[in-house]
Amino acid sequence: MSIDFIEALSTDNLTAIKASPKTDVHCHAFFSARRESVERWLGQPLTKPPPKMKGVEGMMAYADAVLAPHIKHREGFEFVAVSAMNDAVQDGVVMLEMSFDIRLAEFYSGGITELCAFIEALVERYNRQAELRPELGFSRGNAEDPKLMALAQEAVEMGVFQSIDLYSRQEVCPPEVMKPLFTKARAAEMKLKAHVGEFEDADEVRRTVEVLDLDEVQHGIAAAESVEVMRWLSEHHIQLNVCPTSNVMLDGVPELAAHPIRVLFDNGVPVTINTDDLMIFGQSVSEEYRNLYQAGVFSADELDNIRRASLVGVTAQSR
Ligand SMILES: [Zn+2]
Repeated sequence: MSIDFIEALSTDNLTAIKASPKTDVHCHAFFSARRESVERWLGQPLTKPPPKMKGVEGMMAYADAVLAPHIKHREGFEFVAVSAMNDAVQDGVVMLEMSFDIRLAEFYSGGITELCAFIEALVERYNRQAELRPELGFSRGNAEDPKLMALAQEAVEMGVFQSIDLYSRQEVCPPEVMKPLFTKARAAEMKLKAHVGEFEDADEVRRTVEVLDLDEVQHGIAAAESVEVMRWLSEHHIQLNVCPTSNVMLDGVPELAAHPIRVLFDNGVPVTINTDDLMIFGQSVSEEYRNLYQAGVFSADELDNIRRASLVGVTAQSR
């Protein structure tokens, strides 16, 4: 008989933690495989990231120097995407909202159509093990590029993507610039998300949600600085998709034990626990749960409640 999630956490049984169904709704396809999977494929070790990096710039400096040269082409991306699904299934993840950056279309001679065909085949290939809900990813750094913006509009029309996510540093472009694309995504009944509040202040989290009519926020942890913003998020049922190890390694949070996810949870803000970029941060969803328990951030009961809430609306899995 399998042991339940609460017992698995309290007895530190990682195999049993992995056996319990979980979700990952904040992960980026390009960096979502385990680094070890890429090393096996390349037949060579890759330099580990430092334990602390200076924000998103520090992370990108590491990724550009160590990871990107090996995977920044169609073959590399497709290997990573398939490995990411394998690694997620091994970890007991039964549903993923995985973002695919619009620029991945540049790897395909057939452009966005061919990228979408690959993604649809991936959904189909794994549909008995995990539900992959493709998410369209767009970097704020590309907001001034009319060609990429037009391509993103086209991608929305293709009907493959169930959600949209905006990322990279907030100061690069105000949310208003993205309004037309997000309005189009809303009309296509896509879920709307954006990265905000990973480093910025609480008011910027609320403002971005209001301007873009977001359903959920990626990170959003700066909201913990304002009781008023947390109350507003709670009342509007705006879920924050938190990635604890990412926050610690990019120095948005000094250490896991002090992670503001506790404050957010205590103030009634819906939260989920996710990986962000497994290749860089190295912790699967199961490991993130285990780390939060061992750091004393949550009780096993509380983590089970967070896990169960994340599974609402996910097609029943025979796990
Ligand atoms: Zn992210």
